[in-house]
Amino acid sequence: MHLETSYPVLPSPVQPLEHPLFKQHGVRVFIKRDDLIHPIISGNKWRKLKGNLAHAKALKKKGVLTFGGAYSNHIHALAYACQQQGLASIGIIRGEEHYQNNYTLRWAKHWGMKFNFVDRTTYRKRHEQGFLDELSNAYPDYLIVPEGGSNSLALSGMAEVMTELSEQQQFDTLMLPVGSGGSIAGLLSSTTRLEANTQSIQRMLGVAVLKNAEYLVNEIEQLVNRQIDSSYETSWQLLTHHHCGGYAKYSAEDANRLADIVELTGVPFEPVYSGKMMLALFDLLEQGYFTEGHTIMLLHTGGLQGIGGQLERNIMPERLAKALQSHLPSAPQVQ
Ligand SMILES: *Cc1c(COP(=O)(O)O)cnc(C)c1O
Repeated sequence: MHLETSYPVLPSPVQPLEHPLFKQHGVRVFIKRDDLIHPIISGNKWRKLKGNLAHAKALKKKGVLTFGGAYSNHIHALAYACQQQGLASIGIIRGEEHYQNNYTLRWAKHWGMKFNFVDRTTYRKRHEQGFLDELSNAYPDYLIVPEGGSNSLALSGMAEVMTELSEQQQFDTLMLPVGSGGSIAGLLSSTTRLEANTQSIQRMLGVAVLKNAEYLVNEIEQLVNRQIDSSYETSWQLLTHHHCGGYAKYSAEDANRLADIVELTGVPFEPVYSGKMMLALFDLLEQGYFTEGHTIMLLHTGGLQGIGGQLERNIMPERLAKALQSHLPSAPQVQ
């Protein structure tokens, strides 16, 4: 018998996570597997894009224009999602044209995305109104979606995580990786009230995956406050010392620790986002950060396609590469 999974898988499953260190510190750990929502548009990008694409269609746009780096999960997800929805897509990509042969952009191209490669100086203008006006004049039939998809339509999509969790599992602390801050802002703006498990209030812990991320605290607060019905009662914190050296950087030792975690838990944590969340979790446990009886909920934000570019460039240490390579998302063959 042929069993077909239908996508998206929602609500995304919550699973208990086992590790000897969790027992030792008397904490319970669960993981919400947003990486299982969809084999290609995994994790938070699915939640962030959904409302944006619906909006593009409601406005009768021909397609969507967005911004990203050459290995971007957002670019990969958006190209596929647009193709599925019958929308065209344009990617303003930071970098040179040869990047279009890498794993991420090969797929994006396969799904019909047209690229516009720009240098760093031009890319830096991506939030400037003048530059955005120029782009809307050049591409009037396209909805412009910011880098990472972090706008208010994305925030309400992310907030649905809290609604799902309210019916799945009680916890004290919710942990997730933070890039641009859109995802954590979406969770914070949720109006769903969740009761903490043992603490009097629930906490949210973001793990910044880039260096010098202190500026994000302000940006996240601004994003949350812009949501009209934001409740914002959760206490939250951004951890800024667990970036392992900077965006997409990590040491050989980090890679080994992460390979251990992937092997012991059976969950694919890639080293750019969810892997840094896991390394932070283990550091915090060792520092005695969580009291006994504490229940931690981790959000796996997906992004496994990012492994593709790292394997291709041979920059991932062998043990971690072995542990992760079978988790590269399946996708149609490039002709
Ligand atoms: C984009 C991304 C993030 C960061 O989300 P932000 O909303 O930008 O903070 C986290 N995890 C994965 C896998 C991502 O692709």
